[in-house]
Amino acid sequence: MEAFADHYDAIVVGARCAGAATALLLSRCGMRVLLFDRDRRGADTLSTLALMRAGVLQLHRWGLLPALKAQGVPAIRSTSFVYDEDVITVPIKARDGVEALYAPRRTLLDSLLADAAAQAGADVRYGPRLKDLSRAEGGRIDGVILEERDGTLHHVHSTIVVGADGLRSMVARQAEAAVARRGRHASAVVYAFWRGLENGGNRWHYRPGVSVGVIPTNGDDTCIFVAMSPERFHREIRSDMDAGYRRLLSECAPALARELAAVTPSERYRGFPGQVGIVRESHGPGWALVGDAGYFKDPITAHGISDALRDAEFLARAVEKGSDRALAEYQAIRDELSRELFDITDSIAAFDWDLETLGGLHRALSVTMNREVEALVALDRPPPSPSIEPDSASDPHQPVT
Ligand SMILES: Cc1cc2nc3c(=O)[nH]c(=O)nc-3n(C[C@H](O)[C@H](O)[C@H](O)COP(=O)(O)OP(=O)(O)OC[C@H]3O[C@@H](n4cnc5c(N)ncnc54)[C@H](O)[C@@H]3O)c2cc1C
Repeated sequence: MEAFADHYDAIVVGARCAGAATALLLSRCGMRVLLFDRDRRGADTLSTLALMRAGVLQLHRWGLLPALKAQGVPAIRSTSFVYDEDVITVPIKARDGVEALYAPRRTLLDSLLADAAAQAGADVRYGPRLKDLSRAEGGRIDGVILEERDGTLHHVHSTIVVGADGLRSMVARQAEAAVARRGRHASAVVYAFWRGLENGGNRWHYRPGVSVGVIPTNGDDTCIFVAMSPERFHREIRSDMDAGYRRLLSECAPALARELAAVTPSERYRGFPGQVGIVRESHGPGWALVGDAGYFKDPITAHGISDALRDAEFLARAVEKGSDRALAEYQAIRDELSRELFDITDSIAAFDWDLETLGGLHRALSVTMNREVEALVALDRPPPSPSIEPDSASDPHQPVT
């Protein structure tokens, strides 16, 4: 393995959407960055792939959408909410450079971001795992101990260590990041990929106790998930995923279940038994957390990747400023933009709603997603001059898809 530098401005642990995006932005502003992941480049991970407008907006702002489209990721031009028999279809409006949604396979998205980070000058390594954080006198984190696959250890120093190492973050554990909030509910998910279906946009189907998501992705595949309570997952799905998946699919989206009755998925089923959301304190002397490491919420609102791309930018800006206060501001922005999203997601994950209550939760979700998009769009606006009135054209109640 090529030698590591003696010192980096930032070391980022975990090279998926949160870590690779953070490394990309830090490298682009001229910092010396090490990005590493114990997994191999292009490895898959559990995910149903949907990007919300905020996530697509980030890829557009960073100039990565053309490369994504060139890989054959299909444009998603509408989102339909199917409440039992009632269908509400919302076309994706072209604005702020986003004219469609996309749902790239993680094998593609995560490596696209990491490759862009490498192009911007980051030192990107696959294989080594974080074994330990190292501390200077006084306790400030000042680097990492890495272990290569053959057991070789390296002590690498940096000004800051960013934990983008997912829900079970070792950086969070070793930095003793306090838990700030916990959700109360969790939903379980089973999904599979189906080849050759027509791209009818994203479709979210709901019946009490179950939901189904239909998400077109690259490779002519459509990701279709079934979500339910963990109890139902253990009782009805776990022992026979194919039979359980098809039974719940036909309960929630009967026409789709009939369409797939004689078809075999293009890859094996993947199951997720559920995990309650958690928000961690995400900065301290010499360290910060981004993505699921600092803020994991239930996948039922399909928002983790978009939030990771959003927060990568707020964190990168704080790291560039280089003060502990800037890191505190990063966390405050993240929490401000995430609080309602976290609560609404938790309520939907409870699976105790009727369809009317769920419709209300979706409307509230749309308002908070709009605020998130506005916060990102505002990053590219010049700072307001005191003589200019606030922009009244941005209506926070305008639905966002
Ligand atoms: C079933 C399911 C469906 C989902 N569907 C969606 C969806 O449709 N849309 C959406 O936006 N979100 C979805 N999510 C959430 C989304 O997958 C996560 O929010 C996202 O993956 C978080 O990205 P991340 O980069 O923070 O962490 P991760 O994707 O967890 O990546 C962490 C990386 O850190 C590496 N790592 C960990 N420990 C170490 C170590 N010690 N040393 C070196 N490397 C290490 C890992 O190898 C991994 O590559 C879903 C999640 C689940 C479980």
